[in-house]
Amino acid sequence: MNTTKLILHAASFAAYRHRDQRRKGSDAQPYINHPLDVANMLSDIGGIDDPEILAAAILHDTVEDTESTGDEIRELFGERVAGYVLEVTDDKNLPKAERKQLQIEHAPHLSPGAKAIKLADKISNVKDVTDHPPADWPRERRREYIEWAERVVAGLRGVNSELERHFDEAAARARAKFAE
Ligand code: ZN
Repeated sequence: MNTTKLILHAASFAAYRHRDQRRKGSDAQPYINHPLDVANMLSDIGGIDDPEILAAAILHDTVEDTESTGDEIRELFGERVAGYVLEVTDDKNLPKAERKQLQIEHAPHLSPGAKAIKLADKISNVKDVTDHPPADWPRERRREYIEWAERVVAGLRGVNSELERHFDEAAARARAKFAE
């Protein structure tokens, strides 16, 4: 598949699979805005132009949050794209607290491409929690989220200094806002 087709097919597939989902932020954006935001950050901030990393970024929540499977992603988008998606997919059979702990423990062992995707994912989520926090999240829960994201990102460092700097700025802005 050529590069343009790969990206367009990934966007179309993800948009369809997330079609009934909204982000949990107070502005309830269509879910697809988030993976597109992640892919755009990898390109614009991270300077990444590897089409398979960008396609995997667009698809990064399809296995975790929709009925899509790793086999399906492999068949449609190839081994490498599926590999990245599965690297950043939590095991939903585990309780939430354990999944969050495993993200911290697994982060240092991800491939460089998966680390970059996860970094951009955390930037997108931290910005959303800062600017449009879910209505039922009190300040303490928002603060805990940022602290957890910082612990995951600690294990992702060393692959993309621009993304890392952007995360640090987003986290600092979140902390400043919570201190208001
Ligand atoms: Zn995500």
